[in-house]
Amino acid sequence: MTVRLRPHHLLCVLTYAGKGYSPAFTANMTAIAGRLAGGEDVEVVAGPDDVCAPLLSDPQPHCHRASVSERDRAAIDDLGRVLALPVRLGGRLRLDATWLGRLRAAFAAGHVRSACHECEWDALCTAIAQDGFAHTVLAARAREA
Ligand code: SF4
Repeated sequence: MTVRLRPHHLLCVLTYAGKGYSPAFTANMTAIAGRLAGGEDVEVVAGPDDVCAPLLSDPQPHCHRASVSERDRAAIDDLGRVLALPVRLGGRLRLDATWLGRLRAAFAAGHVRSACHECEWDALCTAIAQDGFAHTVLAARAREA
């Protein structure tokens, strides 16, 4: 099994701490964090992904907006430029402990935050990063694994 993620969600999974758009969204996101902590690969996809799935029945889901695609482009650019993390559409990668550590450090330092520009969760994600990602679901699931 692989987790299908659009590029900027590689960042969002780092800071996910149980808050989200709806109960269905958070239940799904929590399950995804558990799968990633369990070692499942990520398949990088264009457009709506496994995280978006619960939102796609909304009348006008934001997942299709051009601004969200721009977040993906920004994430690909940052992750490739700053970390040399090979993010390409259709590619696969694994967020193992080494990559997670590098991603978290770069995120906390603000080096891979271009995708976060004008995101409504920006302040929360910044606070979570400043707290060392200690209370994120991904960190909790990793401790259980
Ligand atoms: S600020 Fe928005 S885009 Fe950035 S990691 Fe948080 S939820 Fe994702």
